[in-house]
Amino acid sequence: MKSILITGAAGFLGSHLCDKFIKEGYRVIGMDNLITGDLKNIEHLFKLEQFEFYNHDVSKFVHVAGKLDYILHFASPASPIDYLKIPIQTLKVGSLGTHNLLGLAKEKNARILIASTSEVYGDPLVHPQTEDYYGNVNTIGPRGVYDEAKRFQESITMAYHRFHGVETRIVRIFNTYGPRMRLNDGRVIPAFIGQALRGEDLTVFGDGSQTRSFCYVDDQVDGIYKLLLSDYAEPVNIGNPHEISILDFAEEIIKLTGTKQKIVFKPLPKDDPMQRQPNIERAKSVLGWEPKVNREEGMRTTYNYFKSLTPEELQRSEHKDFSAHNKK
Ligand code: UDP
Repeated sequence: MKSILITGAAGFLGSHLCDKFIKEGYRVIGMDNLITGDLKNIEHLFKLEQFEFYNHDVSKFVHVAGKLDYILHFASPASPIDYLKIPIQTLKVGSLGTHNLLGLAKEKNARILIASTSEVYGDPLVHPQTEDYYGNVNTIGPRGVYDEAKRFQESITMAYHRFHGVETRIVRIFNTYGPRMRLNDGRVIPAFIGQALRGEDLTVFGDGSQTRSFCYVDDQVDGIYKLLLSDYAEPVNIGNPHEISILDFAEEIIKLTGTKQKIVFKPLPKDDPMQRQPNIERAKSVLGWEPKVNREEGMRTTYNYFKSLTPEELQRSEHKDFSAHNKK
């Protein structure tokens, strides 16, 4: 049985990846310090013999006993609201955490895939974004803590690959959605759906002309799985190229949920990228991958998931308080 360590296992993407690798017959070792992750996302796995979980912060030394074939490094705050609240933790998990996991990969002779992001392109001047675009990032802006940690992460990963011969993979993840997103993480999809379900107005930031391209989680997981098992060490964009403005997307949510509420406009956060759309030609040719789930279908499933939450869970819309962790 192949063993895989998944960091950020209790998070949105991490928990879906745990499910995928359990389904594919792996022994899965989940790791998370539960700052932004939630054990509820992986509770169903604890009864399984091939699943283990460690509550650990990977920016501190990481050790796992026995053989390890693969590592997926998915631990990190990933929403602008979260990394504004825990900027130092965000920098540490992307830099120190990645260093520790690359060291573990070298020690265990394991292949490691690290979760990078479309944020490495910043507010892009090239559209759609291809992997050979170097990006337009404000290093000292509020998003810099995430963007630069992820850029450093890519650099150190390539250094371990070139200098130590570690087998590395880099996925650049574009906006991804689906069940288990945190309702209060500030991201646009849980924000809009939560607002519709609570009977509140939908908050569009700026004039809503900025664009995003949303990928359903099953497609994202499938792309990551294929990349891990490929022999390709350069970064690969995984996302859905179907682009929409945030204002049009708010209208879609109104139709989907049947809410009688209206759209209200709020200030655009600093350095909010104006447009984002992945060029996925590399994923198509190298991995034979492309997304299969269209937005209508994916959003219906996601909406049904949020509808099934308890009224208490639904009310938990205020952003999480991380103040205790900032002292660490
Ligand atoms: N956004 C919005 N209303 C909200 C939350 C987000 O209009 O209540 C906008 C946000 O300004 C951005 C887009 O939706 O332009 C996507 O935001 P998200 O935080 O989901 O992801 P990211 O900016 O990292 O792509």
